[in-house]
Amino acid sequence: MTATSTTRTTPAESEGLYVVATHKVRDRSAGAPSAWLPYGTEHAWRPGTRRTLCGEWISGWTVFWERRFSARPAAACPRCVEQTLPEESRRRLDPVSA
Ligand SMILES: [Zn+2]
Repeated sequence: MTATSTTRTTPAESEGLYVVATHKVRDRSAGAPSAWLPYGTEHAWRPGTRRTLCGEWISGWTVFWERRFSARPAAACPRCVEQTLPEESRRRLDPVSA
């Protein structure tokens, strides 16, 4: 049985999504001197597209190929997270207009 500590159960909708951010910062804590970490909001991006899931143009942004997008970090873009949700649960989030 093979398992890695970074493997997470993710919804099918978020498969193939990577973290992109406008800024990056050196990871000085984990003993990986060349590692970069996203700084600021983490958006979701699908390779082959030029925009984040929330519609931001990513020209000049940093793609973190080793980081799959996850809705769990507090820095995750709420609009990108929403786009990864199944249609049904997205509807459930919609405010009821009276
Ligand atoms: Zn976003």
